[in-house]
Amino acid sequence: MSAMIEASLKLHKVLETIKVDFPRFYRALNKCAVQFTEEVPRVTIDNQVLKLNPQWILDTGMHEMRDALLHDALHLLLCHPQRYQKVARWIRGAKAGELFNVAADLEANCQLDDQGLVLPPHFLLPGIQYEDYDLRAMPWGRTAEEYFGLLLRQAVENGGLAPPGSPSDESDCCLEGVDSTENKA
Ligand SMILES: [Zn+2]
Repeated sequence: MSAMIEASLKLHKVLETIKVDFPRFYRALNKCAVQFTEEVPRVTIDNQVLKLNPQWILDTGMHEMRDALLHDALHLLLCHPQRYQKVARWIRGAKAGELFNVAADLEANCQLDDQGLVLPPHFLLPGIQYEDYDLRAMPWGRTAEEYFGLLLRQAVENGGLAPPGSPSDESDCCLEGVDSTENKA
């Protein structure tokens, strides 16, 4: 069997379990076109296109794949791309996009965890340290906008970001889909 066929059969199987156990999430995913591409390391949703790396599908357990798909579906259900556009009106810059990605991941993953899912360890949650982000003191269950505000304050205090409105922060916003930089989850 070719790797592509094997990957699409596996994806189909995982989507079937989501259809049964998480119908609301399934409906969100089902509206997307599916594209297999090496462009993404794992899975992202970008402008209603579900992009999946076929090798990632082959290498990843069904359970982890399901959680990653639920995570991306939740970005859609929570309207994260549209909400980012509102945030981007008052704070711009590639860094702001990255911060909103982290903030949106925190909101989504808290909700998944609250549903009783046992998330893989690389999913961002309050209480961990992730690369430059100290999430250890982050509160649980907040909105992406609240997390964004907290992360922004942290970034300004650490000198990694000019305060909002500063003329030195003129880089263009790069966020297309909320998972466009990297899918931590
Ligand atoms: Zn995400």
